[in-house]
Amino acid sequence: MRLFFWSACLTLGLLAGAGTAAAEGTKATPVPLPILPQGTITLRVATLENTRLPAWPRPRIERLLAVTARIVADHFGLVVRFELGPRYSVADLWPEIERRFGVRLRHQIFDFRRGRGNPDLLRRVYTKVVARSEPVRALLRRLAPDRTTPADGAAWLVDRHLEGLRSWQEAKWPDGRPVLADTMASEWVYWDALGHLNLPAEVFVTNQPLISAEYHAPAPHAALRGGLTVGSTGYAPASRYGTLSSFSTFAFEPGIPALTRLRGGRDYGPDEATDLAGAYLAHEIGHQLLHLGHPFENPACVMRPAEELRFRDWKAGLDPGRCRLGSEPAMTPGAFRFYESLNQ
Ligand SMILES: [Zn+2]
Repeated sequence: MRLFFWSACLTLGLLAGAGTAAAEGTKATPVPLPILPQGTITLRVATLENTRLPAWPRPRIERLLAVTARIVADHFGLVVRFELGPRYSVADLWPEIERRFGVRLRHQIFDFRRGRGNPDLLRRVYTKVVARSEPVRALLRRLAPDRTTPADGAAWLVDRHLEGLRSWQEAKWPDGRPVLADTMASEWVYWDALGHLNLPAEVFVTNQPLISAEYHAPAPHAALRGGLTVGSTGYAPASRYGTLSSFSTFAFEPGIPALTRLRGGRDYGPDEATDLAGAYLAHEIGHQLLHLGHPFENPACVMRPAEELRFRDWKAGLDPGRCRLGSEPAMTPGAFRFYESLNQ
């Protein structure tokens, strides 16, 4: 999830967002830890397509979800059943998000496409994240050991983020179409607002690339992917468990050099890509059902975000026997706090 770190689960930029709300004394109410039913937990899944882009066919999504259910059982001891339901399109939903929340959301966007971003403000926002998070400082000690103050570390993260955004602006799908053609469709803050449309789903699977920078809830792991988010979990009043997870298949696509680089020079065949995506979606389910955080230092954990987009290495390291629930603070249910607000 884009919670904090590494490569994008994004959305958990949430962790950062939660900390912000608490630190700044806002009155957002925490989302309660779900009371899960005994036996099978049914999660409604919708697809949310950008119809201009290639999308995975339904049998492929079903295979992905089967892998997710297996990993969730192995790592969390939960039996989940995914109910694959409606298909929505970005073209249908985005005008509604724009109408209801657009003005507020646009203030949060670092507008790199039109060169209207404010790098100083972005550095200040990241500086707060670095200053209050020991896990982020530990990451920086490893990746940028010469950056010893929060401000220096934040500046390094922002440089990586902006440099990555420039490469995404030039990136193309194998057929030559630009990756970043649809402006607001790739903005994370719009995806984070999706839960406020009260649609009947706990999980959205999309083919849309999520690539952005924002002054709200900065996610250092997404910064290291040039602002790319793979998965995100956030407040959703109509969801059965209080939050919904969005998950993009874009990061698993072959033939896009900027992605291949972040995967350590690798492309995956379709079956492996599907299975790796399924395993990675389990990470979002851990955020959604158990409010788990990110145990960054334990590669056995599905809740540890993949470094960059090295999903094959990430999956190879998983071992539920060495990452049990409750084994460390981040793996304790309730470790992460979501808040009942729009873009907390
Ligand atoms: Zn996460």
